[in-house]
Amino acid sequence: MKLAYLGLGSNLGDREEALREALRKLEAPDLRLITVSSLYETEPVGYARQGWFLNLCAEVETTLFPKQLLQRTQRVEREMGRRRTITNGPRVIDVDILLYGNAIIETKELQVPHPRYRERRFVLAPLAELKPSLRDPETGRSMTEMLANLQDQTVRIVGKLS
Ligand code: ADP
Ligand code: MG
Repeated sequence: MKLAYLGLGSNLGDREEALREALRKLEAPDLRLITVSSLYETEPVGYARQGWFLNLCAEVETTLFPKQLLQRTQRVEREMGRRRTITNGPRVIDVDILLYGNAIIETKELQVPHPRYRERRFVLAPLAELKPSLRDPETGRSMTEMLANLQDQTVRIVGKLS
């Protein structure tokens, strides 16, 4: 049994419903949701000409191995009609594996910790809410420390998923 952290985001259609549906589809006897963060409305990063995102992070307990967890998250994205188009472009749902216990994974299809999460306020803000003292297995820095070092990007809490 491992604790893993997932980052979910949506900026197309009914964003809140997309997040709710994704969490519902991820959950199974081999993947239990432990805690879900507040909802954060966030400025798009990278490709700016698109709507703002709604993001959250979830702490999950799972017996799936990392590759199996990636298969689960990608299946959910596929089932929800995610089309792979522009990098960082608009999407109904994005599910990223941020952390998987203290594992460090460097393969072609999967890198954990997620290679870009340390620079993303839309990930670190909800992660720091869930577990401020959680430490990055590669750098040893806590979520709160990493968040404090970020300058840009606007994020605001818009409540909880109902
Ligand atoms: P992004 O989330 O950066 O916008 P995508 O969701 O389109 O990009 O994912 C692109 C690829 O990233 C996927 O095909 C997947 O194999 C790879 N990937 C590598 N590491 C991870 C991870 N930790 N979580 C999710 N996807 C990952
Ligand atoms: Mg992704």
